[in-house]
Amino acid sequence: MFDKFNDECGVFGVYNHPEAANITYLGLYSLQHRGQESAGIVSSNEGKLRSHKGMGLVADIFHKKDLARLPGKSAIGHVRYSTAGESHIKNAQPFVVEYSLGEIAIAHNGNIVNAQILRDELEAYGSIFQSSMDTEVIVHLMATSNDSKLIRRLTSALMRVKGAYSLVLLSNKKLIAVRDPNGFRPLVLGRIKDAGRDGKDSWVVASETCAFEIIDAEYVRDVEPGEVIIIDEYGLKSIKPFAEAKYTPCVFEFIYFARPDSRIFNANVYTVRKRLGAELYRDHPVEADVVLPVPDSGTPAAMGYAEASGIPFEMGMVRNHYVGRTFIEPQAEIRHFGVKIKLNPIRDIVAGKRVVVVDDSIVRGTTSQKIIKMLRNAGASEIHMRISSPPTISPCYYGIDTPNKEELIAANHDLADINDYITSDTLGYLSIEGVYRAVAESGASFCDACFTGNYVLARPKPPQLALFG
Ligand code: AMP
Repeated sequence: MFDKFNDECGVFGVYNHPEAANITYLGLYSLQHRGQESAGIVSSNEGKLRSHKGMGLVADIFHKKDLARLPGKSAIGHVRYSTAGESHIKNAQPFVVEYSLGEIAIAHNGNIVNAQILRDELEAYGSIFQSSMDTEVIVHLMATSNDSKLIRRLTSALMRVKGAYSLVLLSNKKLIAVRDPNGFRPLVLGRIKDAGRDGKDSWVVASETCAFEIIDAEYVRDVEPGEVIIIDEYGLKSIKPFAEAKYTPCVFEFIYFARPDSRIFNANVYTVRKRLGAELYRDHPVEADVVLPVPDSGTPAAMGYAEASGIPFEMGMVRNHYVGRTFIEPQAEIRHFGVKIKLNPIRDIVAGKRVVVVDDSIVRGTTSQKIIKMLRNAGASEIHMRISSPPTISPCYYGIDTPNKEELIAANHDLADINDYITSDTLGYLSIEGVYRAVAESGASFCDACFTGNYVLARPKPPQLALFG
Protein backbone atom coordinates (compact mmCIF):
# COMPACT_ATOMS: atom_id res chain seq x y z
CA MET A 1 0.00 0.00 0.00
CA PHE A 2 1.16 3.40 -0.89
CA ASP A 3 0.11 5.89 1.73
CA LYS A 4 1.43 3.86 4.65
CA PHE A 5 4.99 4.91 4.12
CA ASN A 6 6.81 7.04 6.48
CA ASP A 7 10.21 7.82 5.26
CA GLU A 8 12.91 9.12 7.44
CA CYS A 9 15.19 11.02 5.15
CA GLY A 10 17.91 13.56 4.81
CA VAL A 11 18.31 15.94 1.88
CA PHE A 12 21.20 18.02 0.64
CA GLY A 13 21.90 20.39 -2.25
CA VAL A 14 24.78 22.55 -3.47
CA TYR A 15 24.93 25.21 -6.17
CA ASN A 16 28.03 26.63 -7.84
CA HIS A 17 30.77 24.49 -6.38
CA PRO A 18 33.48 22.98 -8.60
CA GLU A 19 33.28 19.76 -6.60
CA ALA A 20 29.53 19.60 -6.22
CA ALA A 21 29.23 15.79 -6.12
CA ASN A 22 32.04 15.44 -3.55
CA ILE A 23 30.48 18.15 -1.40
CA THR A 24 27.12 16.37 -1.61
CA TYR A 25 28.78 13.09 -0.63
CA LEU A 26 30.21 14.75 2.48
CA GLY A 27 26.87 16.37 3.25
CA LEU A 28 25.06 13.04 2.99
CA TYR A 29 27.71 11.41 5.12
CA SER A 30 26.83 13.80 7.95
CA LEU A 31 23.13 13.20 7.41
CA GLN A 32 23.48 9.42 7.48
CA HIS A 33 21.61 9.22 10.81
CA ARG A 34 18.47 10.37 8.93
CA GLY A 35 18.37 7.27 6.74
CA GLN A 36 20.57 4.22 6.24
CA GLU A 37 18.76 2.23 3.65
CA SER A 38 19.52 3.96 0.38
CA ALA A 39 21.28 7.05 -0.88
CA GLY A 40 21.68 8.92 -4.12
CA ILE A 41 23.32 11.93 -5.74
CA VAL A 42 22.31 13.74 -8.92
CA SER A 43 24.59 16.33 -10.49
CA SER A 44 23.93 18.84 -13.21
CA ASN A 45 26.45 19.49 -15.94
CA GLU A 46 26.06 21.29 -19.25
CA GLY A 47 22.34 20.81 -19.40
CA LYS A 48 22.40 17.13 -18.40
CA LEU A 49 21.57 15.48 -15.08
CA ARG A 50 23.54 12.45 -14.00
CA SER A 51 22.64 10.20 -11.13
CA HIS A 52 24.10 7.47 -8.96
CA LYS A 53 21.97 5.67 -6.38
CA GLY A 54 22.29 2.54 -4.32
CA MET A 55 21.10 0.57 -1.33
CA GLY A 56 23.02 0.83 1.94
CA LEU A 57 25.22 3.42 3.57
CA VAL A 58 26.65 6.45 1.81
CA ALA A 59 30.23 5.24 2.20
CA ASP A 60 29.35 1.87 0.63
CA ILE A 61 27.40 3.29 -2.30
CA PHE A 62 29.78 5.97 -3.53
CA HIS A 63 33.33 5.28 -4.60
CA LYS A 64 35.74 7.69 -6.21
CA LYS A 65 34.82 6.52 -9.70
CA ASP A 66 31.10 6.99 -9.03
CA LEU A 67 31.65 10.55 -7.85
CA ALA A 68 33.89 11.22 -10.86
CA ARG A 69 30.93 10.28 -13.07
CA LEU A 70 28.87 13.05 -11.51
CA PRO A 71 30.42 16.21 -12.99
CA GLY A 72 29.06 19.73 -12.74
CA LYS A 73 28.86 22.60 -10.30
CA SER A 74 25.54 21.73 -8.72
CA ALA A 75 24.15 18.58 -7.19
CA ILE A 76 21.52 17.26 -4.81
CA GLY A 77 21.50 14.17 -2.64
CA HIS A 78 19.28 12.07 -0.44
CA VAL A 79 19.51 9.43 2.29
CA ARG A 80 16.49 7.31 3.10
CA TYR A 81 15.05 4.76 5.42
CA SER A 82 11.64 3.23 4.82
CA THR A 83 9.34 0.85 6.63
CA ALA A 84 9.31 -2.89 6.00
CA GLY A 85 8.60 -4.27 2.58
CA GLU A 86 9.57 -1.27 0.54
CA SER A 87 13.28 -1.49 0.75
CA HIS A 88 13.95 -1.27 -2.94
CA ILE A 89 16.24 0.64 -5.25
CA LYS A 90 13.27 1.90 -7.26
CA ASN A 91 12.34 3.97 -4.22
CA ALA A 92 15.82 5.43 -3.75
CA GLN A 93 15.98 9.18 -4.34
CA PRO A 94 16.66 11.66 -5.87
CA PHE A 95 14.12 10.89 -8.58
CA VAL A 96 15.05 12.14 -12.02
CA VAL A 97 12.32 12.74 -14.54
CA GLU A 98 12.28 14.21 -17.98
CA TYR A 99 9.32 16.19 -19.18
CA SER A 100 8.53 19.01 -21.58
CA LEU A 101 10.66 21.57 -19.69
CA GLY A 102 13.67 19.27 -19.51
CA GLU A 103 15.06 17.11 -16.74
CA ILE A 104 14.41 17.64 -13.07
CA ALA A 105 15.62 15.80 -9.98
CA ILE A 106 13.83 15.85 -6.65
CA ALA A 107 14.78 14.78 -3.13
CA HIS A 108 12.14 14.80 -0.40
CA ASN A 109 12.04 14.53 3.36
CA GLY A 110 8.60 14.17 4.90
CA ASN A 111 5.32 12.54 4.02
CA ILE A 112 2.44 13.68 1.91
CA VAL A 113 -0.86 12.95 3.60
CA ASN A 114 -3.07 13.14 0.50
CA ALA A 115 -0.63 11.17 -1.68
CA GLN A 116 -2.97 8.26 -2.27
CA ILE A 117 -5.80 10.49 -3.47
CA LEU A 118 -3.50 12.39 -5.82
CA ARG A 119 -1.94 9.20 -7.09
CA ASP A 120 -5.32 7.60 -7.84
CA GLU A 121 -6.34 10.74 -9.69
CA LEU A 122 -3.12 10.92 -11.69
CA GLU A 123 -3.30 7.24 -12.58
CA ALA A 124 -6.88 7.66 -13.73
CA TYR A 125 -5.54 10.25 -16.19
CA GLY A 126 -2.81 7.93 -17.42
CA SER A 127 0.25 8.66 -15.24
CA ILE A 128 2.46 5.62 -14.83
CA PHE A 129 4.33 5.61 -11.55
CA GLN A 130 7.82 4.14 -11.36
CA SER A 131 7.93 3.84 -7.60
CA SER A 132 5.69 3.57 -4.57
CA MET A 133 7.00 6.83 -3.12
CA ASP A 134 4.67 9.70 -2.37
CA THR A 135 7.36 12.05 -3.68
CA GLU A 136 6.68 10.90 -7.21
CA VAL A 137 3.25 12.51 -7.01
CA ILE A 138 4.92 15.93 -7.05
CA VAL A 139 6.78 15.33 -10.30
CA HIS A 140 3.71 13.82 -11.97
CA LEU A 141 1.67 16.85 -10.96
CA MET A 142 4.39 19.04 -12.47
CA ALA A 143 4.40 17.00 -15.66
CA THR A 144 0.65 17.28 -16.19
CA SER A 145 0.79 21.09 -16.16
CA ASN A 146 1.46 22.96 -19.38
CA ASP A 147 2.87 26.09 -17.78
CA SER A 148 6.08 27.25 -19.44
CA LYS A 149 7.78 28.16 -16.16
CA LEU A 150 9.32 25.52 -13.93
CA ILE A 151 8.73 27.40 -10.68
CA ARG A 152 5.06 27.97 -11.47
CA ARG A 153 4.65 24.28 -12.28
CA LEU A 154 6.28 23.38 -9.00
CA THR A 155 4.30 25.78 -6.85
CA SER A 156 0.98 24.88 -8.43
CA ALA A 157 1.79 21.18 -7.94
CA LEU A 158 2.64 21.83 -4.29
CA MET A 159 -0.56 23.79 -3.76
CA ARG A 160 -2.39 20.47 -4.28
CA VAL A 161 -0.12 18.59 -1.92
CA LYS A 162 -0.86 18.35 1.81
CA GLY A 163 1.68 17.19 4.30
CA ALA A 164 5.31 17.43 5.22
CA TYR A 165 7.91 18.27 2.64
CA SER A 166 11.38 19.63 2.86
CA LEU A 167 12.49 19.42 -0.75
CA VAL A 168 15.53 20.06 -2.84
CA LEU A 169 15.16 20.07 -6.62
CA LEU A 170 17.72 20.36 -9.35
CA SER A 171 17.17 21.36 -12.95
CA ASN A 172 19.93 21.99 -15.45
CA LYS A 173 19.95 25.64 -14.39
CA LYS A 174 18.55 25.91 -10.89
CA LEU A 175 18.73 24.55 -7.38
CA ILE A 176 15.40 24.91 -5.60
CA ALA A 177 14.64 24.41 -1.91
CA VAL A 178 11.10 24.24 -0.54
CA ARG A 179 9.69 23.80 2.95
CA ASP A 180 6.01 23.06 3.52
CA PRO A 181 3.88 25.80 5.11
CA ASN A 182 3.84 24.04 8.50
CA GLY A 183 7.60 23.55 8.44
CA PHE A 184 7.37 20.00 9.81
CA ARG A 185 10.88 18.95 8.84
CA PRO A 186 13.99 21.06 9.18
CA LEU A 187 15.76 22.61 6.18
CA VAL A 188 18.65 25.03 6.43
CA LEU A 189 20.46 27.33 4.04
CA GLY A 190 24.21 27.84 4.08
CA ARG A 191 26.96 29.43 2.08
CA ILE A 192 30.59 28.65 1.31
CA LYS A 193 32.29 31.98 0.70
CA ASP A 194 34.09 32.38 -2.64
CA ALA A 195 34.04 28.66 -3.28
CA GLY A 196 32.64 28.86 -6.81
CA ARG A 197 36.03 29.74 -8.37
CA ASP A 198 34.15 32.37 -10.36
CA GLY A 199 34.23 35.13 -7.77
CA LYS A 200 30.90 33.95 -6.39
CA ASP A 201 29.83 32.01 -3.32
CA SER A 202 28.52 28.48 -3.28
CA TRP A 203 25.09 27.91 -1.78
CA VAL A 204 24.13 24.83 0.17
CA VAL A 205 20.85 23.49 1.52
CA ALA A 206 20.60 20.63 4.01
CA SER A 207 18.23 18.94 6.41
CA GLU A 208 20.47 19.86 9.33
CA THR A 209 23.36 22.19 10.06
CA CYS A 210 25.63 19.24 10.95
CA ALA A 211 26.07 18.84 7.18
CA PHE A 212 27.59 22.34 6.96
CA GLU A 213 30.56 22.09 9.30
CA ILE A 214 32.17 19.25 7.37
CA ILE A 215 32.19 21.32 4.16
CA ASP A 216 33.14 24.64 5.82
CA ALA A 217 29.80 26.20 5.02
CA GLU A 218 28.39 28.92 7.22
CA TYR A 219 24.79 28.65 8.37
CA VAL A 220 22.81 31.52 6.85
CA ARG A 221 19.28 30.81 8.04
CA ASP A 222 16.47 28.27 8.07
CA VAL A 223 14.46 27.87 4.90
CA GLU A 224 11.24 29.36 6.22
CA PRO A 225 7.96 27.47 6.38
CA GLY A 226 6.15 27.93 3.07
CA GLU A 227 9.24 29.36 1.40
CA VAL A 228 10.59 28.47 -2.03
CA ILE A 229 14.23 29.46 -2.56
CA ILE A 230 15.45 29.51 -6.13
CA ILE A 231 19.19 29.65 -6.71
CA ASP A 232 20.52 30.20 -10.20
CA GLU A 233 23.02 32.33 -12.13
CA TYR A 234 21.14 35.47 -11.04
CA GLY A 235 21.62 34.66 -7.36
CA LEU A 236 19.15 33.69 -4.71
CA LYS A 237 15.45 34.48 -4.90
CA SER A 238 12.82 33.74 -2.30
CA ILE A 239 9.06 33.50 -2.79
CA LYS A 240 6.22 32.51 -0.48
CA PRO A 241 3.50 31.31 -2.80
CA PHE A 242 1.44 29.22 -0.38
CA ALA A 243 -1.34 30.17 2.00
CA GLU A 244 0.13 30.78 5.44
CA ALA A 245 -0.19 28.05 8.02
CA LYS A 246 0.72 27.63 11.65
CA TYR A 247 4.41 26.86 12.11
CA THR A 248 4.43 23.38 13.64
CA PRO A 249 7.84 21.75 13.34
CA CYS A 250 8.24 18.19 14.60
CA VAL A 251 9.17 18.03 18.28
CA PHE A 252 10.53 14.49 17.84
CA GLU A 253 13.41 15.92 15.79
CA PHE A 254 14.63 17.46 19.04
CA ILE A 255 13.88 14.36 21.11
CA TYR A 256 15.47 11.73 18.92
CA PHE A 257 15.91 12.25 15.25
CA ALA A 258 18.27 15.16 14.59
CA ARG A 259 21.97 15.03 15.40
CA PRO A 260 22.94 16.68 18.70
CA ASP A 261 25.46 19.00 17.02
CA SER A 262 22.78 20.43 14.72
CA ARG A 263 20.85 23.62 15.18
CA ILE A 264 17.29 23.14 14.04
CA PHE A 265 14.15 25.22 14.57
CA ASN A 266 16.25 27.90 16.24
CA ALA A 267 17.88 25.83 18.96
CA ASN A 268 20.77 23.43 19.42
CA VAL A 269 19.62 19.83 19.66
CA TYR A 270 22.12 18.76 22.33
CA THR A 271 21.19 21.64 24.63
CA VAL A 272 17.49 20.86 24.25
CA ARG A 273 18.11 17.17 25.00
CA LYS A 274 20.01 18.01 28.18
CA ARG A 275 17.10 20.18 29.24
CA LEU A 276 14.69 17.32 28.49
CA GLY A 277 16.75 15.23 30.91
CA ALA A 278 16.66 17.91 33.61
CA GLU A 279 12.89 18.23 33.20
CA LEU A 280 12.61 14.45 33.40
CA TYR A 281 14.32 14.51 36.79
CA ARG A 282 11.89 17.19 37.95
CA ASP A 283 8.96 15.05 36.80
CA HIS A 284 10.33 11.73 38.09
CA PRO A 285 13.04 11.99 40.72
CA VAL A 286 14.39 8.78 42.25
CA GLU A 287 17.09 7.82 44.70
CA ALA A 288 19.82 5.96 42.88
CA ASP A 289 23.58 5.43 42.68
CA VAL A 290 24.22 6.04 39.03
CA VAL A 291 22.60 7.44 35.86
CA LEU A 292 23.24 5.51 32.64
CA PRO A 293 22.26 6.60 29.15
CA VAL A 294 21.08 4.25 26.45
CA PRO A 295 23.75 5.35 24.00
CA ASP A 296 23.65 7.28 21.76
CA SER A 297 20.04 8.38 21.71
CA GLY A 298 19.68 8.82 25.48
CA THR A 299 23.08 10.32 26.24
CA PRO A 300 22.44 14.09 26.42
CA ALA A 301 19.15 13.56 28.33
CA ALA A 302 20.93 11.26 30.81
CA MET A 303 23.56 13.98 31.32
CA GLY A 304 20.77 16.46 32.01
CA TYR A 305 19.13 14.05 34.46
CA ALA A 306 22.43 13.43 36.27
CA GLU A 307 23.25 17.14 36.46
CA ALA A 308 19.80 18.04 37.83
CA SER A 309 19.77 15.17 40.34
CA GLY A 310 23.39 15.23 41.44
CA ILE A 311 23.56 11.45 40.80
CA PRO A 312 26.82 10.47 39.07
CA PHE A 313 26.65 9.92 35.31
CA GLU A 314 28.38 6.86 33.90
CA MET A 315 28.62 5.36 30.43
CA GLY A 316 27.55 2.05 31.93
CA MET A 317 26.80 0.50 28.56
CA VAL A 318 29.14 0.51 25.64
CA ARG A 319 27.82 0.80 22.17
CA ASN A 320 29.37 -1.00 19.27
CA HIS A 321 29.46 1.77 16.71
CA TYR A 322 29.92 -0.54 13.79
CA VAL A 323 26.37 -1.83 13.97
CA GLY A 324 23.64 0.22 12.32
CA ARG A 325 20.77 1.54 14.38
CA THR A 326 18.79 -1.49 15.54
CA PHE A 327 15.45 0.10 14.86
CA ILE A 328 16.43 0.94 11.36
CA GLU A 329 16.63 -2.73 10.26
CA PRO A 330 13.34 -3.47 8.55
CA GLN A 331 13.02 -7.14 9.53
CA ALA A 332 11.77 -7.96 13.00
CA GLU A 333 14.24 -10.80 13.58
CA ILE A 334 17.21 -8.56 12.97
CA ARG A 335 15.77 -5.83 15.15
CA HIS A 336 15.30 -8.19 18.08
CA PHE A 337 18.76 -9.61 17.75
CA GLY A 338 20.13 -6.11 17.26
CA VAL A 339 20.01 -4.78 20.81
CA LYS A 340 22.40 -7.48 22.02
CA ILE A 341 24.98 -6.97 19.35
CA LYS A 342 24.82 -3.22 19.77
CA LEU A 343 25.03 -2.63 23.51
CA ASN A 344 27.02 -4.23 26.27
CA PRO A 345 26.90 -3.28 29.97
CA ILE A 346 30.03 -2.63 32.04
CA ARG A 347 29.66 -5.01 34.99
CA ASP A 348 32.02 -3.01 37.23
CA ILE A 349 29.81 0.06 36.87
CA VAL A 350 26.41 -1.52 37.40
CA ALA A 351 26.92 -4.51 39.75
CA GLY A 352 25.16 -3.94 43.07
CA LYS A 353 23.99 -0.46 42.03
CA ARG A 354 20.62 1.22 41.87
CA VAL A 355 20.64 2.51 38.31
CA VAL A 356 18.59 5.11 36.45
CA VAL A 357 18.52 4.26 32.75
CA VAL A 358 17.62 7.14 30.42
CA ASP A 359 16.43 6.68 26.84
CA ASP A 360 14.66 9.11 24.53
CA SER A 361 11.58 7.01 23.77
CA ILE A 362 9.86 3.66 23.99
CA VAL A 363 8.19 2.51 20.78
CA ARG A 364 7.35 -1.20 21.03
CA GLY A 365 9.21 -1.73 24.31
CA THR A 366 11.68 -4.22 22.84
CA THR A 367 14.83 -2.15 23.40
CA SER A 368 14.04 -1.23 27.01
CA GLN A 369 13.12 -4.80 27.89
CA LYS A 370 16.35 -6.20 26.51
CA ILE A 371 18.50 -3.51 28.09
CA ILE A 372 16.95 -4.07 31.49
CA LYS A 373 17.53 -7.81 31.23
CA MET A 374 21.15 -7.18 30.31
CA LEU A 375 21.64 -4.82 33.25
CA ARG A 376 20.07 -7.28 35.69
CA ASN A 377 22.38 -9.98 34.37
CA ALA A 378 25.25 -7.58 35.00
CA GLY A 379 24.17 -7.31 38.64
CA ALA A 380 22.16 -4.04 38.86
CA SER A 381 20.16 -4.11 42.12
CA GLU A 382 17.40 -1.70 41.01
CA ILE A 383 16.55 -0.35 37.58
CA HIS A 384 14.59 2.86 37.17
CA MET A 385 13.71 3.53 33.54
CA ARG A 386 13.32 7.17 32.62
CA ILE A 387 12.17 8.32 29.17
CA SER A 388 12.86 11.85 27.95
CA SER A 389 9.56 12.12 26.06
CA PRO A 390 5.91 11.34 26.78
CA PRO A 391 4.43 7.93 25.86
CA THR A 392 4.36 7.44 22.09
CA ILE A 393 0.67 6.79 21.46
CA SER A 394 0.08 7.69 17.81
CA PRO A 395 1.89 7.05 14.55
CA CYS A 396 3.49 9.90 12.66
CA TYR A 397 2.01 10.92 9.31
CA TYR A 398 4.69 13.46 8.58
CA GLY A 399 7.93 11.58 8.12
CA ILE A 400 9.04 9.80 11.29
CA ASP A 401 8.89 6.05 11.05
CA THR A 402 6.59 4.90 13.82
CA PRO A 403 4.75 1.60 13.57
CA ASN A 404 0.96 1.29 13.48
CA LYS A 405 -0.97 2.04 16.63
CA GLU A 406 -1.35 -1.69 17.36
CA GLU A 407 2.41 -2.01 17.77
CA LEU A 408 2.91 1.09 19.91
CA ILE A 409 3.07 -0.26 23.44
CA ALA A 410 1.87 2.96 25.06
CA ALA A 411 -1.13 3.18 22.75
CA ASN A 412 -2.47 -0.05 24.18
CA HIS A 413 -1.09 -0.33 27.70
CA ASP A 414 -0.93 1.85 30.77
CA LEU A 415 2.20 2.78 32.69
CA ALA A 416 1.96 -0.16 35.11
CA ASP A 417 1.62 -2.64 32.22
CA ILE A 418 4.59 -1.16 30.40
CA ASN A 419 6.65 -1.21 33.58
CA ASP A 420 5.78 -4.91 33.98
CA TYR A 421 6.57 -5.67 30.36
CA ILE A 422 9.99 -4.04 30.32
CA THR A 423 10.62 -5.35 33.89
CA SER A 424 11.88 -2.07 35.35
CA ASP A 425 11.46 -1.35 39.07
CA THR A 426 9.96 2.02 38.20
CA LEU A 427 9.18 3.76 34.93
CA GLY A 428 8.75 7.49 34.33
CA TYR A 429 8.01 9.36 31.12
CA LEU A 430 8.59 13.08 30.69
CA SER A 431 5.34 15.06 30.69
CA ILE A 432 4.34 17.04 27.60
CA GLU A 433 4.62 20.20 29.75
CA GLY A 434 8.21 19.20 30.51
CA VAL A 435 8.90 18.81 26.80
CA TYR A 436 7.54 22.29 26.13
CA ARG A 437 9.67 23.83 28.87
CA ALA A 438 12.73 22.19 27.33
CA VAL A 439 12.04 23.41 23.78
CA ALA A 440 10.77 26.89 24.72
CA GLU A 441 13.91 28.56 23.31
CA SER A 442 12.84 27.55 19.82
CA GLY A 443 9.71 29.68 20.05
CA ALA A 444 7.68 27.34 17.80
CA SER A 445 4.38 25.65 18.56
CA PHE A 446 5.30 22.10 17.68
CA CYS A 447 3.58 19.12 16.11
CA ASP A 448 3.37 16.59 18.95
CA ALA A 449 0.88 14.18 17.35
CA CYS A 450 2.98 11.12 18.31
CA PHE A 451 2.43 11.99 21.99
CA THR A 452 -1.01 13.59 21.92
CA GLY A 453 -2.79 12.26 18.84
CA ASN A 454 -3.48 15.88 17.82
CA TYR A 455 -2.69 15.85 14.13
CA VAL A 456 -1.98 19.21 12.57
CA LEU A 457 -3.09 17.92 9.16
CA ALA A 458 -5.57 15.07 8.99
CA ARG A 459 -5.01 12.23 6.57
CA PRO A 460 -7.89 12.32 4.11
CA LYS A 461 -9.43 8.92 3.37
CA PRO A 462 -9.32 7.95 -0.30
CA PRO A 463 -12.86 7.60 -1.68
CA GLN A 464 -14.12 3.99 -1.57
CA LEU A 465 -14.64 2.49 -4.98
CA ALA A 466 -18.14 1.15 -5.41
CA LEU A 467 -17.35 -2.13 -7.13
CA PHE A 468 -20.83 -3.64 -7.30
CA GLY A 469 -23.35 -1.08 -8.32
P1 AMP B 1 11.47 -0.03 20.80
O1 AMP B 1 12.49 -1.08 21.06
O2 AMP B 1 10.54 -0.42 19.70
O3 AMP B 1 10.75 0.40 22.03
O4 AMP B 1 12.25 1.23 20.24
C1 AMP B 1 12.81 2.17 21.12
C2 AMP B 1 14.17 2.58 20.65
O5 AMP B 1 14.10 3.00 19.31
C3 AMP B 1 14.70 3.74 21.48
O6 AMP B 1 16.00 3.41 21.91
C4 AMP B 1 14.71 4.92 20.53
O7 AMP B 1 15.90 5.65 20.66
C5 AMP B 1 14.63 4.30 19.16
N1 AMP B 1 13.71 5.02 18.27
C6 AMP B 1 12.60 5.69 18.58
N2 AMP B 1 12.00 6.18 17.48
C7 AMP B 1 12.75 5.79 16.44
C8 AMP B 1 12.67 5.98 15.03
N3 AMP B 1 11.67 6.68 14.49
N4 AMP B 1 13.64 5.46 14.26
C9 AMP B 1 14.63 4.74 14.81
N5 AMP B 1 14.77 4.53 16.12
C10 AMP B 1 13.84 5.04 16.94
